[in-house]
Amino acid sequence: MDGLKYAVRKEGQETTCFTVGNLCVGRDFLLIAGPCSVESETQIMEAAKWVKACGANVLRGGTFKPRMSPYSFRGLGREGLLMLEKAGKEYDLPIITEVTDTRDVEFVAKHADFIQIGARNMQNFSLLEEVGKTNKPILLKRGMTATLEEFLNSAEYILSSNNSQVILCERGIRTFEPYTRNTLDLSAVPALKTLTHLPIIVDPSHATGRRELVLPMSLAAVAAGCDGLEIEMHPTPEKALSDAEQQLTGEGMLQLAEKVKKAVEFRENL
Ligand code: PEP
Ligand code: MN
Repeated sequence: MDGLKYAVRKEGQETTCFTVGNLCVGRDFLLIAGPCSVESETQIMEAAKWVKACGANVLRGGTFKPRMSPYSFRGLGREGLLMLEKAGKEYDLPIITEVTDTRDVEFVAKHADFIQIGARNMQNFSLLEEVGKTNKPILLKRGMTATLEEFLNSAEYILSSNNSQVILCERGIRTFEPYTRNTLDLSAVPALKTLTHLPIIVDPSHATGRRELVLPMSLAAVAAGCDGLEIEMHPTPEKALSDAEQQLTGEGMLQLAEKVKKAVEFRENL
């Protein structure tokens, strides 16, 4: 891993921590939950109620959606972010949303507590530099064909633009296996722990694409040493406008949060 100046873990260096409200990312277990997309004010309010109830600490919701087809639902844009912001305020939860275009960075930084860079934009270097100029924590997702070296170099773009608050997210990589949407590379978690001081979380929702695999892979991710999870949940997943197959119900989310909490406690006493 030559050429990394800021992302690399120095001998004996602890995992980087930073605070967002009452939350200390890198120390407190980060549980991000919410729908794939913000679809309406009612939907995001209902989702936020479940997210709060399960004890998750960040509310997610996509409003700029990178979709394979231009004819699929591509999110409510800025208006959707204002709905997410309202839901976050109502339930006292910090919010995270993805930004896909440099022209929206200022708006997203103004209204969201965390900014997400999606897998498809991991090497959009102008976008990385633009979010690097904000003072918001950045959740950087691993590109679906990115090596760990490429992943860390993308983090380096943000860090070297003067933003030290970067969280890495393993969200599955593309392999020959079509049964799952991607293949969750869990070895990336302990590998990144040795390579970098940045907190690393796991997204088992996009990694598997299958609702029934989200809980077991969440527990496996905790065992692998992750600093948090990002989970998609929807009040009525069967009616979701995107990623209907992988989103948990509110009840499913409650169960997951309870088991994850136990697994984190168990891990601490190993
Ligand atoms: C998302 O989290 O909304 C998303 C699109 O995920 P990814 O970029 O990992 O595909
Ligand atoms: Mn999704």
